Amino acid sequence: MIVPASSDALHRAAHIIRHGGLVAFPTETVYGLGANALDAEAVRRIYDAKQRPFASPLIVHVTDTEMARSVTAEWPAVADRLAKRFWPGPLTLVIKKSEVVPDLVTAGLGTVGVRVPANPIATELIRQSGVPIAAPSANLFGQISPTTAEHVWAGLGDRVAMILDGGATKVGIESTVVALRNDGPVVLRPGMISQSELEEATHVRWEQELNVPEIRDADESPGQQARHYAPRTPLYVLEAGMARPNGRGRVLAMPRDRKKFAASLYAELHKADSEGLEWIAIEAPPDTGEWAGIADRLRRASKHEN
Ligand code: AMP
Ligand code: MG
Repeated sequence: MIVPASSDALHRAAHIIRHGGLVAFPTETVYGLGANALDAEAVRRIYDAKQRPFASPLIVHVTDTEMARSVTAEWPAVADRLAKRFWPGPLTLVIKKSEVVPDLVTAGLGTVGVRVPANPIATELIRQSGVPIAAPSANLFGQISPTTAEHVWAGLGDRVAMILDGGATKVGIESTVVALRNDGPVVLRPGMISQSELEEATHVRWEQELNVPEIRDADESPGQQARHYAPRTPLYVLEAGMARPNGRGRVLAMPRDRKKFAASLYAELHKADSEGLEWIAIEAPPDTGEWAGIADRLRRASKHEN
């Protein structure tokens, strides 16, 4: 059921979370499918509803640094610096986990991904629930993330007790995920907070690597990885001079501004995917660090067998 995020709805949503149920809610990145992060049974319901393999860890959403520290076993100086600079915002910090966090949340890893979302509905829901909320994107595993309450309804329907409607999300693609390791920070998943912004905030050079849990995920469920973040209609990323595919398709007209591009990307893909086309195409974005998060999502969404 979609409900406007009124104070009464938030009150009921927090009650559902406290009692082990699922609530879909807006963040600034995409809509999340949330459950009490400290309750393994509740977290299991997220995996069931999404049909998501257990090997894929969830992000824990908190209201502030103090709550973040309650789910981590350490709080390195670099975490403090990043939290001060980018929270609330689309940055997930992967840090050694506290034992209060069930293994199901972290897919058995010794680390937990944590962030403070920049959306008042999300933070109010966490505050009223009184617990950190574990939430992956509110879509079936492998499909495009939802950026509106209607996208969540179309994908999950009655699998979720309540969908809090907060309108279209502002950032539009998932958070930048970084691991704070002893030998230096590493970008695990690029997003709209770019590597150079991270380097500027921490005064050190960062490594970048592919998202390790997702690679493992692919090994354990072959064929799934290729469909990650993907529409059902084959998507092509057109490099300059590349011919369009044959058949009835559409080249999506995307904004030139990277923030506007990210904010509209998934809505455009959801829409085009419902038009019964043989293909969808998007012109390749600029090959720069600022666009790395967008390029990453396009790469994943356009992986398909011919
Ligand atoms: P989603 O919430 O669907 O956007 O997916 C969560 C993302 O965060 C995935 O890409 C995970 O691999 C990543 N993530 C969450 N927790 C961890 C962790 N402990 N270690 C590494 N990556 C993580
Ligand atoms: Mg997802």
